[in-house]
Amino acid sequence: SATGNSDLEIAARAVMRPIQEIAATAGIPAEALELYGRHKAKIDPDRLPAEPGTSPGRIVLVTAMSPTPAGEGKSTVTVGLGDALAASGQRTIIALREPSLGPVFGLKGGATGGGRAQVLPMEDINLHFTGDFHAITSANNLLAALIDNHLQQGNDLGIDPRRITFKRVLDMNDRALREIVIGLGGTSGGIPRQDGFDITVASEVMAVFCLARDQADLKERLGAITVGHTRDGRPVTAGDLGAAGAMALLLRDAFKPNLVQTIDGTPALVHGGPFANIAHGCNSVVATQAARRLADIVVTEAGFGADLGAEKFIDIKARLANCQPSAVVVVATVRALKMHGGVPKEGLGVRDDDALRAGLANLERHVGNVRRLGIEPVVALNRFATDSGAELDLVAQWCRERGVAVAVADVWARGGAGGAELAARVLEALERGQEAHPLYPLELNVAEKIETIVRTVYGGAGVDYSVPALRRLAEIQAEGLDGLPVCMAKTQYSFSDNASRLGAPEGFTLHVRDLVPKTGAGFIVVLTGAVMTMPGLPKEPAALRMDVDGGGRAVGLF
Ligand code: ADP
Repeated sequence: SATGNSDLEIAARAVMRPIQEIAATAGIPAEALELYGRHKAKIDPDRLPAEPGTSPGRIVLVTAMSPTPAGEGKSTVTVGLGDALAASGQRTIIALREPSLGPVFGLKGGATGGGRAQVLPMEDINLHFTGDFHAITSANNLLAALIDNHLQQGNDLGIDPRRITFKRVLDMNDRALREIVIGLGGTSGGIPRQDGFDITVASEVMAVFCLARDQADLKERLGAITVGHTRDGRPVTAGDLGAAGAMALLLRDAFKPNLVQTIDGTPALVHGGPFANIAHGCNSVVATQAARRLADIVVTEAGFGADLGAEKFIDIKARLANCQPSAVVVVATVRALKMHGGVPKEGLGVRDDDALRAGLANLERHVGNVRRLGIEPVVALNRFATDSGAELDLVAQWCRERGVAVAVADVWARGGAGGAELAARVLEALERGQEAHPLYPLELNVAEKIETIVRTVYGGAGVDYSVPALRRLAEIQAEGLDGLPVCMAKTQYSFSDNASRLGAPEGFTLHVRDLVPKTGAGFIVVLTGAVMTMPGLPKEPAALRMDVDGGGRAVGLF
């Protein structure tokens, strides 16, 4: 209905400005703009104005406490905070990830914010947008096809079909494709081998896309992707197969950041979208750096809780691209705090101060972690209609007692106007002149890096490796990859690798199942617990509520 309050209905009532006007607001010249319809454009970083004499824009990183399955509103707060900073006169650009179809049609929903704090056009952004994920999926699967064709055509490189680690990808939650057998068509049907699909957002091509500095760096990193090993144990790369040029060609247009607007008309660059539990979880370096050239403040988000997205933002992306945050916002909700205090999902709307207090242990550990990374955090209490004033006061009081800056964010209901107090706290934080620093030095070996993360950020007692993981650790050392940062793949619900251990668990052991060197992206993925790189759909997928009406309008897109 026209008066409904779903994200989709609120977005549908918003009046969008032509994207050229948004570009002008952001200082993007017409010659850098490539239009995709009236409300979306790609921007060519090479045609942005030459680096001004001023220093690049400062990064405000939005992260969160450990989330409920619905998400705690990081994207919502990122958008609302960007709107509030822009309204206060700050030259601001928002930098977000592109949504994956997996969560859109599965359980969690889209990634365009919510309520009055959304980026538009939300239907397009949550569906195919400008085709970037298609391009990334195609580049990935081109390499996969070239690998199997190489086996079929005589296998000059001597690739061991049992040791191919590069997988096909699809941007969909499809658990039936996790483990498959391919090549079952007789002599003309390829060489039979065990294979599997990952979701596109967990792929190394996505990570490379998001970490590459420019087109030349993109091609070089694509060529450095390890696809497997030869029978005598030597690594084989995409470059050895001659694949990098064609992959880079497929990514040529996708690699340019996408410009859109918020409901309030603030410019937003939405580009790249690795998950934060099974990948590094941040938007592209090219979009972040373009935003920093154009604006004084760049508000960006790293996925899931600060144990995952923020740690990887700082240890992987910002270390590489030299874009460490100057302020960090930790989003908390009364609902998530009650869940960490032991309240089941169905009861989260009911007041329970004891549970709320108990759940603060989770927030406390995240706050401590951000401090450890060199920044005094700002807690943003994302207000839900079911929250009582007394509950919000209790949390705000708890923060003040610990010297933690805090503001209630009412951006879902009110857009930028509901984020004024948060914006003021963030501007105060920026005045401190702090800059985050990595948690661990790259000189530590891979096992030491994992140990550091587990004992400090996660609060665990130690790490335990499977037999294959131990073998892989030795290989990593032998191949000279010990100097890479690690990209932890872990459940987002708990500091531990067990999704049901809420709050602030202690004394646990983190179970490392496997390690996968991503030599193009430049990190080692550490698979822990039962986390999957190809998710499945839930019992009631969101897809079942979706439709398109006679007028071509989306229905049920949350
Ligand atoms: P995250 O980025 O942490 O995953 P999102 O910002 O995507 O979370 O929000 C997840 C969902 O929760 C969205 O559908 C959004 O509309 C909803 N949501 C977020 N904040 C609020 C709020 N304060 N009140 C009601 N719904 C909210």
